[in-house]
Amino acid sequence: MNLPDVAPWIAAQSKALLAQNGHAWLLVGPSGLGQYRLALALVSAWLCERPTEQGACGTCGSCHAIEVRTHADLCVLMPETVSLDLGWPLSEKAQGEIDAKTRKPSKEIRIEAMRDAVEFSQRTSARGRGKAVLVFPAERMNHVTANALLKTLEEPPGDVKFVLASEAAHQLLPTIRSRCLAHTMVWPTPDVALAWLQQRGLDSAQAAVMLRASGGRPDDALQLAQAGPGGPTPAGWVKLPQAMARGDVSGLKDWTPTQAVDALQKLCHDLLTVKVGAAPRFFDAADLPSVSSLPSLTAWAKALGAAARTVEHPFNSGLMLEALVSQAQNALNAKN
Ligand SMILES: [Zn+2]
Repeated sequence: MNLPDVAPWIAAQSKALLAQNGHAWLLVGPSGLGQYRLALALVSAWLCERPTEQGACGTCGSCHAIEVRTHADLCVLMPETVSLDLGWPLSEKAQGEIDAKTRKPSKEIRIEAMRDAVEFSQRTSARGRGKAVLVFPAERMNHVTANALLKTLEEPPGDVKFVLASEAAHQLLPTIRSRCLAHTMVWPTPDVALAWLQQRGLDSAQAAVMLRASGGRPDDALQLAQAGPGGPTPAGWVKLPQAMARGDVSGLKDWTPTQAVDALQKLCHDLLTVKVGAAPRFFDAADLPSVSSLPSLTAWAKALGAAARTVEHPFNSGLMLEALVSQAQNALNAKN
């Protein structure tokens, strides 16, 4: 992790938080604004051997150990699916179970991982600069794991600091919230977000469409752009509203049902917004078809909400996409 890699709006927040002396931070706000990267910047600075007021140096042994995911004084507590996505190693036992296919990676923070974290916070620091626990996304703790964390937060055993990041802080135990200093994530301006996306390899048109498609959240925009084959492309996103109005299934070709439902929810949101006279958020107003029926849009929004709750386990994704497109076409063309 070298300093230039830290996005400017993350660097500014990291500097501001480091200037305060919190031993437990709770980063809150919508996903896609870089909560995880801010949390990582904080723990890196705490553990760094040569920190400046800007944060970690990016070159010392501690920074390097974090970069290669093997820092003995850093405990990263995540659902296994998130650890795997972000390249953090699982415990040997957990990895063994997943490799042997005895179970799937967990989407919650497991009690076993929490036990390891509690044990970690009671050990002495290996590198002598204290210890840090990073919890992300913190709302993926169940009642048991949350209570175990709470005990550690209430009686921190010495030199351990915490950073929790959550896009659903209201789901956390109030007692956990009250033990932490809260920081609400700051939105980057569109100019700053676009420049950052271009530094990451997107051209300016791509960056603009993907940032819009992500509702102004740069991390989500980058993830969308890097999603690989299938899924929304900048050109496909721009054409999506008209394709849905025509009932053209190829508009969602190779998308996963999750991506499709998410995109259609955004389209429906924008059409409702335009209907009440406000500016759309995810699509350009010029790309949206005009829709005459408000009741059909609200019914569509409700149906999409129901689809979103079951979309991870579709019976048949091809059939589901066809059904979604036909539902969209009906909503967009209804007369009353
Ligand atoms: Zn360092």
